Amino acid sequence: MRTPIIAGNWKMFKTVKEAVAFIEDVKGKAEVAGVESVICAPYTNLPALTEAVQGTSLKIGAQNVHFEDSGAFTGEISGLMLKEIGVDYVIIGHSERRAYFAETDEIVNKKVLAAFKHGLLPIVCVGESLEEREAGKTKDVCRVQTEAALQGLTEAQAAQVVVAYEPIWAIGTGKTSTAEDAGEVIGYIRERIAAQFNSDVAGKVRIQYGGSVKPNNIREFMQHPDIDGALVGGASLEPASYISLVEGA
Ligand code: PEP
Repeated sequence: MRTPIIAGNWKMFKTVKEAVAFIEDVKGKAEVAGVESVICAPYTNLPALTEAVQGTSLKIGAQNVHFEDSGAFTGEISGLMLKEIGVDYVIIGHSERRAYFAETDEIVNKKVLAAFKHGLLPIVCVGESLEEREAGKTKDVCRVQTEAALQGLTEAQAAQVVVAYEPIWAIGTGKTSTAEDAGEVIGYIRERIAAQFNSDVAGKVRIQYGGSVKPNNIREFMQHPDIDGALVGGASLEPASYISLVEGA
């Protein structure tokens, strides 16, 4: 009953020309009935991309958003600005932003609330470091991050959130969690959302796995009943690979 969602996280890759050429290549191919397909691109690409996907089922996402609508925040972009150019999704709290740009759980929560204020759907990233995993803290870390991110949302908003469970040690490393392991953590995150809201909300929230997902392992993850798609970095950059990921979902 949950529509699987494949989201490509391009990180800081692709010029506008490259981004538009990518959409031309994947149009009609990375569009599969029953799968939502979202490209999360650098800010500079977003106006051209929202234009390029007109008339397709492809959706466009940003990779960050500021929590204020406007103000003296040099270098930042607000939800108001993203909505105006037709962006649908925004990645919030990616581990790279938590690590390199000091994003705390409190900031992540403010950004999630700001996304909903402007009609953007957040893809909220949670996940443990290798050290935390080895210390047996995986579930605790995911519980704290998820509860903080969703604080203050209405039930209707919470049900629309996409959570991406991304073990940090699996991002860009070629190492993946097993589908069974990822499914267990994702099942636990769903239980916690049920405790924070209710089981109806928890049953609707889509929870992706992320971390070195490729065309050759996507099916394994998708076979797990609790895994609702994937957030994909490296393997989302090439059209053929992205198409295979959407087909695999
Ligand atoms: C990511 O950037 O969220 C990610 C999962 O990257 P990769 O697929 O390259 O591991």
